[in-house]
Amino acid sequence: MGHADGSNGGGPRPTVDRVRLKRSFARRIPAQPRLSAPGAPTTLTPAQAEARAIYKELVEINTADSVGSVTRAAEAMAARFRAAGFPASDIHVVGPANAPAKHNLVVRYRGRGRGKPILLLAHLDVVQALRADWPNDPFELREENGYFLGRGVADDKSMAAMFTANLLRYKAEGWVPERDLILALTADEEGGSQNGVSWLIANHRDLIDAEYAINEGGGGTLQGDEPLFHSIQAAEKVYTDFTLTVRNTGGHSSVPRKDNAIYSLANALQRIQQHTFPVELNDVTRPFFEQTAKVEMPSLAAAMRALVANPRDTTAARLVSMDPRYASMLRTTCVATMLSGGHAPNALPQTATANVNCRIVPTSKTSEVKALLERVVNDTAVVITTTSRDRTDGAPGPIHPTVLAATVQLTNRLFKGVPVIPMMSTGATDGYRLRNAGIPTYGVSGIFSMTGETNAHGRDEKLRVKSFYDGLTFLYELVRLVAGPNPSGPVS
Ligand SMILES: [Zn+2]
Repeated sequence: MGHADGSNGGGPRPTVDRVRLKRSFARRIPAQPRLSAPGAPTTLTPAQAEARAIYKELVEINTADSVGSVTRAAEAMAARFRAAGFPASDIHVVGPANAPAKHNLVVRYRGRGRGKPILLLAHLDVVQALRADWPNDPFELREENGYFLGRGVADDKSMAAMFTANLLRYKAEGWVPERDLILALTADEEGGSQNGVSWLIANHRDLIDAEYAINEGGGGTLQGDEPLFHSIQAAEKVYTDFTLTVRNTGGHSSVPRKDNAIYSLANALQRIQQHTFPVELNDVTRPFFEQTAKVEMPSLAAAMRALVANPRDTTAARLVSMDPRYASMLRTTCVATMLSGGHAPNALPQTATANVNCRIVPTSKTSEVKALLERVVNDTAVVITTTSRDRTDGAPGPIHPTVLAATVQLTNRLFKGVPVIPMMSTGATDGYRLRNAGIPTYGVSGIFSMTGETNAHGRDEKLRVKSFYDGLTFLYELVRLVAGPNPSGPVS
């Protein structure tokens, strides 16, 4: 499916308050600290209470690289599955033998064998949080003013807890999906050398092989307390660093020469600054701009539509590129991020180096960007190197129609029918590792927050209590829809 109009999933078209959307998109309201968030339930259903207990247990196990243990969290969840009657042969805590704190949990929930499994992925590790930097213990789940607080409450222990709670609930309810569901809770997404997804692909592909995966990276955006849009992350740009190096014999700075490492490097960087990569759209970014055009200002909306129709429309490209967030979704970007050179104030520089950080679109490769940078720089004195290899996942395909239809249906029901927008991240999640291995991966969660509100990776990481329970319900229903009977039929 090359076209992901919001109405594709059947059901009513999302009702969009165009004026409100237009205003908010135009203003790009920055993240503001909120004192309180409304909508937290006053009493919990048994399913909500169970999910909260799992969430609390996960948050309170320190899983940060080097000081924490992902294995402890994996074992804690494994114990819950054993207690719930999952056969031991379907529960695996596995990982590299030389990294006992970096083991992953993989649980299989057996279906009727009609179709390849669906993989539910969340990472257990968190970014380090120091007690001294936080007003309260970051590894204690707190609930205050409508927010959950603690390291990992947003990234990514919320999804880990939701998937776990929901699988346990399916089992308790006796629901048998049409196909197997696989839960993988993994290590070292945030850093560290033992990334669980890569390790599982290399060592236990059989355990996690799936038609597609559901992962972090998507979710809903709130305007104030109201849903604005719901994104499905279906592609990622690839992070690649290039080092530019110029070497020179140097000499005394009282007798300068034409050849100079610092000037050569500076010229090269200026050429890169002036170069604009061509617009390259794909089956995720095309529908992104089509959907976003529905809620943007008329002039910008027209430019987005023109660009989808003709990526070589330079006038439209210039207009859309005025917003850096949209600009980065249009094309590969490369920007100088670090610089060093010279060894003494009174000597001609013998070396000068710069780091150029590129975010490469899925339809391009590291080797192609390197060759292009060499052409742009056009100076053999400047040597360009990288440790990155070419990606192997190719151009992203359209979002799986069942996943899209189910997301639209549930967004209509739970989130006021705001637009569902396919998204290409300019950053990275573990999704790209699965996509590289041929497993399409969709970031979709039903977890809503204001832009920047969660402060993931930062101090006082938080998630709205309401958003946690809404996400729990959304994912419960989503998995039932996509793994239920007739998932490719009309979802009504
Ligand atoms: Zn994450």
